Amino acid sequence: MRSPHEDAPLALHVSAGTPRGTTLTERGTHRAQREHVARLHSYLTRYGLVTWTSGNVSERVPGEDLFVIKGSGVEYDELTWEGVTVCDLDGNAVDGVKKPSSDTDAHAYVYRHLPEVNGQVHTHSPYATAWAARAEEIPCVLTAMADEFGGSIPVGPFALIGDDSIGRGIVETLAGSRSPAVLMRNHGVFTVGPSAKAAVKAAVMTEDVARTVHFSRQLGEPLPIDQADVDRLYARYQNVYGQ
Ligand SMILES: [Zn+2]
Repeated sequence: MRSPHEDAPLALHVSAGTPRGTTLTERGTHRAQREHVARLHSYLTRYGLVTWTSGNVSERVPGEDLFVIKGSGVEYDELTWEGVTVCDLDGNAVDGVKKPSSDTDAHAYVYRHLPEVNGQVHTHSPYATAWAARAEEIPCVLTAMADEFGGSIPVGPFALIGDDSIGRGIVETLAGSRSPAVLMRNHGVFTVGPSAKAAVKAAVMTEDVARTVHFSRQLGEPLPIDQADVDRLYARYQNVYGQ
């Protein structure tokens, strides 16, 4: 038997305490991209970057002032396209029934200020976040770091969630670095990329090098790589490597 509400759009009122008192409705727009971004979250669990629901992926919608981002508190095992919400560049939800991630304001700020960024990831991956807790950048002591990050992975300022301060800290820190990753002090990892998948890769690599450099530190002081070699490695990897 058909429910009388079957064809009606799902709607729910977002309770007080959310950034904006929006009524969310599912219209099914950008479904393929939401499906793609939902699936990318499997990398976060596969590589041990997230605990419970604490990380998220977003991606800019090409040609529109919109992006899609994981819904707040949605569990990774249950994440489908409907768990990914479409937002405008001010972070307002425009399609989807899930309240967008609590990090939406930070992602929106970065998309507004860095037009070349099309994807972002946030995690509290444990080794990298251990560096962030000490506000210590990860020094460039591995050729893989020179390849991927073009130098050390920088630390951004302490910032509270709830306004533009995390986004501002990310943008300001990225401006002084070739790294696609920032360790926000006392918080965790934020990465950017030309696509969501590239930002996911940067998040995976950030945790990998954070762990390796940590292990190296237990044995003594890791050796820095000469800047000229860092530059050569970075140029080669960015321009030549891959298919
Ligand atoms: Zn966080």
